[in-house]
Amino acid sequence: MGISYLVPSQLEKRAVKGAKVRVIFARREYIAVISELTDNCGDYKGRISEILSVEDVPAVSEKELRFWKWCADYYMCTVGEVYRAAFTSAMRRDSAPKRVRKQKPSEVDSRELYQLSPAQEQAREEIMESFAQGKPALLAGVTGSGKTEIYLKIAKEITDKGGRVLYMVPEIALSRQLNDRLEAVFGEMLLSYHSGMTPAARYSAYSKIDSTPDGEGFIVLGLRSSLFLPFRNLDLIIIDEEHDSSYKQTDPAPRYNGRDSAIVLGQIHSAPVLLGSATPSFESLYNCSSGRYSLVRLDEKFHGATEPEVTVIDTIRESKAKRMNGLFSQTLLEEIESVTGRGEQVLIFRNRRSYSPLVQCSVCGHIPMCSHCNVPLSYHKNRGELCCHYCDYHIPRSSVCPECSEPGMTEKGSGTEMIEEKIREILPNARVARFDAETTQSKAEEKRILREFAAGKIDILVGTQMISKGFDFKGLSLVALIQADSMLAMDDFRANERAFQLLRQLSGRTGRGAARGKIIIQTSLAAHNVYEAFSSGEERLYEQLAERQEFGYPPFVRLIKLTVRSADRNRLSDAAARTSMGLGKIRSAEITGPFAPVVDKVRGEYILQFWIKLPRAGNAAAKERIAELAEKIESEIRSVTIVADVDPQ
Ligand code: ADP
Ligand code: ZN
Repeated sequence: MGISYLVPSQLEKRAVKGAKVRVIFARREYIAVISELTDNCGDYKGRISEILSVEDVPAVSEKELRFWKWCADYYMCTVGEVYRAAFTSAMRRDSAPKRVRKQKPSEVDSRELYQLSPAQEQAREEIMESFAQGKPALLAGVTGSGKTEIYLKIAKEITDKGGRVLYMVPEIALSRQLNDRLEAVFGEMLLSYHSGMTPAARYSAYSKIDSTPDGEGFIVLGLRSSLFLPFRNLDLIIIDEEHDSSYKQTDPAPRYNGRDSAIVLGQIHSAPVLLGSATPSFESLYNCSSGRYSLVRLDEKFHGATEPEVTVIDTIRESKAKRMNGLFSQTLLEEIESVTGRGEQVLIFRNRRSYSPLVQCSVCGHIPMCSHCNVPLSYHKNRGELCCHYCDYHIPRSSVCPECSEPGMTEKGSGTEMIEEKIREILPNARVARFDAETTQSKAEEKRILREFAAGKIDILVGTQMISKGFDFKGLSLVALIQADSMLAMDDFRANERAFQLLRQLSGRTGRGAARGKIIIQTSLAAHNVYEAFSSGEERLYEQLAERQEFGYPPFVRLIKLTVRSADRNRLSDAAARTSMGLGKIRSAEITGPFAPVVDKVRGEYILQFWIKLPRAGNAAAKERIAELAEKIESEIRSVTIVADVDPQ
């Protein structure tokens, strides 16, 4: 799997297994890792080049190599691809910091941990009991129950004794938010690590972890990529918001899930693992019910706030009764006015950014599409453009239809930008802002919006998914969902689970202050059982789990999504036919496909997919055969790419 190099005699002593070395490959210099040493070149007769030098840094440990190997096997990629993920630019010496900037004093001044409440203390004890039995613990605690405080307490005990903790969060925004709190508790022992940092700062964290002597504790706050930091030993792994799909890397390989990989890393280090969420994933709940994890519940909010009052509004019925004002029901508008009138705040959630998801000619019906992807272009009004959300294609918006030349182009559907505009029209005195991928392109802007909302300088915030996570706003008392049915996408077996989690996360944002929060859901599918499950508690959710079992979906089976791509349609169908035949010979695999996904052309390449179901255990041989098959077809049919995504999200 690797490439062979000669070890010059003067480097023999230092060129140990795991050493980082400089080599030339295809005329370029690289840093590589020695994965194996041998005296035997087999029957290879060609020239073998020499290692140039051995880097003056600690060698990669046996544990790291074991973890990388596991990732490569499990996620069906090469060790080289895992290594590339591990060996980011942060490790390059030329990115070493030239000048160390002084840390800004933190806004949180107390170094103290809070005293845990009796309920929190009880949860902590249950977690420690689980660790003593060698089992990961899942802390299922409602939002505001103080899960973070429990993590900190457990972590601090470890770092104080010179132990090492990895604290994982799914997204940068969350790590930014937690950073101050952790800094207050851990001071110098806190090392942050994520892709939003400068290479110099990452290098600094990396080399600290690489070179801290045994017996000195630290805590790393990082995203999924921090799993590949050079830990010699770990004493605790915390996985915050474990249900979050952002833990999964989709592209490029390794297509790993940070949560699941963390469990394995914990095993390699014999380190206890603590998962936490207000809305645990079905996967983790399943692991609790099968006895692999312990389930620890914390149902009491620390500040004693109550669950929000939930109202589901049937937009079809309201529309018939002439009780809709454009996108908003009258009930919602009245509620918004009364909330803002009291000086409290509103969050309007819509899971589509842009002004309108598509435009259509009212004369001939033409819908402008991306010229590289099979998706309609979205209208972004402030940019005056139609844009593709799958690639960077964009064209100026015109009211004249390019097909029939009539001035018939009209917006269809509504995104965050339109909602923002309409709410400004209806409530001209309200201070309105928008929080989505577009308005938060700059980190400074993102921070500004959050700060102003937290300070009560914004009355109504319109946002996408990005706003549902972790944020703690005292003045927020109403959360509204517009066109909530769009989150129940039909082709995803996790749609209901996701929708439920999102509703829970959003409702967790309300009622943090004194008043009881409200959540208003506007939907054209008011009878959907997700809303009922949400209003009536989570027992109903377990029925969904039973359904997954009945129809053979994860977590009851292992799923692999195999994607075949090519810019050439004939080659694609040829490759798909051969994939289909090859897969058919794997007895333990249940195959669906090939089928065209909803968006069946992206960046000029046509796409066909297979879903492969494998048994949960004993599937390594089948995976290997699938990988071999993909590699064979790729090598035999030009310009075809086959990608395996294990445990797709
Ligand atoms: P969760 O992560 O479960 O949503 P947090 O850990 O964010 O909850 O806690 C919610 C709020 O309650 C935070 O402002 C936190 O500082 C506060 N809090 C939680 N536990 C305690 C405690 N034991 N003492 C004082 N404040 C607490
Ligand atoms: Zn495109």
